[in-house]
Amino acid sequence: MAVLYHGNCHCGNYQFELSSPGEISSALTCPCSVCLKKGYLWLEVSSGNFQTTHDGRLTEYRTSSIQDKFCGQCGTGIVAEHLSGPLQGKILINGRTLREINPFQLAVNDEVSDKRAFGDNELRRALLPHNFSCHCGAVNAQLSLPVAHLDIREDNCSSCVRNAYIGVQPTKEQVAISGRGNTFEYRYGQKFTGLSHCITCGVLVYKTVYGPPITIFDRLPAEMRERALAVYYRNMSLQPLNVRTLDGIDTASLRIERNDEGTEGYELG
Ligand SMILES: [Zn+2]
Ligand SMILES: [Zn+2]
Ligand SMILES: [Zn+2]
Repeated sequence: MAVLYHGNCHCGNYQFELSSPGEISSALTCPCSVCLKKGYLWLEVSSGNFQTTHDGRLTEYRTSSIQDKFCGQCGTGIVAEHLSGPLQGKILINGRTLREINPFQLAVNDEVSDKRAFGDNELRRALLPHNFSCHCGAVNAQLSLPVAHLDIREDNCSSCVRNAYIGVQPTKEQVAISGRGNTFEYRYGQKFTGLSHCITCGVLVYKTVYGPPITIFDRLPAEMRERALAVYYRNMSLQPLNVRTLDGIDTASLRIERNDEGTEGYELG
């Protein structure tokens, strides 16, 4: 029996419905360099079972091997067509955008993803300083210590799930960012954090911690206030980075702490 799924980018600028012949339980991964940086979980669709319901304009990023479309407001990747390799010619929808699906519970089928089919993705050793970069190279962050020395975390809140974000939180002193001017920033909800995506390729390389307005601590009793402020200043000193964008690393080789608690109360606005 056909099952109807609903998908959207995080900000809701682009929305669609997908009618699947049965329940979706698996997705495809692709080892091309764009799909790795964006952590795509692909579902193959045909134009007949896919319908756009809110047609916000998508930004297109095109290389010799892929035509990738993402929301230019929130950065969520939606759809791509590969121009070479085993996925060539298929219409692929990012399964991470479907509200009815928990990507942590999808079986991943990478048998079509013969790594040798892609010349641009030979895994190298990630040398120090580590370089985190978007796909087109306009945004870079250099980390001065080995990523394995940090806690590496992945959760499936509405935002991280769509960005396939795997996070580390070094301090600002340990990171040098270049190309800030080549990003657009997305902030949502309480706006305590900003997500910086490359304007050209859409890849999320780093986040910025803004925290709550410091005046909210004025209301606390003196003793609690001191503790809360210590946490606040600690958080404000951090520079979150997206490990998926670390050049030369195979995320499968990392020890990632996964938190499968799902949504934080996100509702499509
Ligand atoms: Zn959006
Ligand atoms: Zn790909
Ligand atoms: Zn870029």
